[in-house]
Amino acid sequence: MNIILFGPPGAGKGTQADTIVKEFNFFKISTGDLLRKEIDKNSILGNKIKSIIEKGNLVSDETINNLVKDILTNKKYFNKIVFDGYPRNLNQAKILDKLVLDNNQKISCVLSLKVDQDTVVKRILGREICSKCGKIFNKYFNPSTESNHSCGLDFLKIRSDDKKEVILERFKTYTKETHPILDHYRSQNLLYEIDGISNIVKISQEIRQIIRSLDAWLCRFYQYK
Ligand code: AMP
Repeated sequence: MNIILFGPPGAGKGTQADTIVKEFNFFKISTGDLLRKEIDKNSILGNKIKSIIEKGNLVSDETINNLVKDILTNKKYFNKIVFDGYPRNLNQAKILDKLVLDNNQKISCVLSLKVDQDTVVKRILGREICSKCGKIFNKYFNPSTESNHSCGLDFLKIRSDDKKEVILERFKTYTKETHPILDHYRSQNLLYEIDGISNIVKISQEIRQIIRSLDAWLCRFYQYK
């Protein structure tokens, strides 16, 4: 089974994807993380991507689809992917349908985290990411502490697109281009809508139940609470 975690920026997709990875042995594929890796290379493509991301716009479908194609054709990830931040528009959703089919895989569910704009802004302004282990924290709601994070505070970084004016642009892009693809998944009976405002543990529980209901076999082999 492959899973799509869907929702606006700051909905908690990355955090929930990390939990699924840990509990069910999946691989998280965050197109945002893949793009940031390209930026870190300081390549011509990386610099182009950086300027798009810092405006809150979407990177071209061609760039994204090439990244995702490499993943879906790699046997290591076969039917064990949690997509975080992909697909982001209808064209990407249709290309993903084809890539999945061509590679004998399937999308088993689309978990949509519903969060309003005010909450998104508050959450993103507190977001901190560990540059060593990749864990995501929030200095207001879920701070890094000695007990939940062994790398320490020195590695915590703030994303360059986590500024208020960019967040508002990203939310606009989400509303206009990304949110409409929910109908695509609703019509395929793949959509599960989840209240993304409730606390992290409760949301994880809900997600766990959904995964369990879809694949009892998987859940017998991996720990769940
Ligand atoms: P994220 O880490 O998912 O919040 O993504 C950060 C930024 O990367 C977005 O605001 C977009 O500019 C870009 N990005 C990430 N995923 C995609 C995608 N699937 N399609 C286009 N642009 C993307």
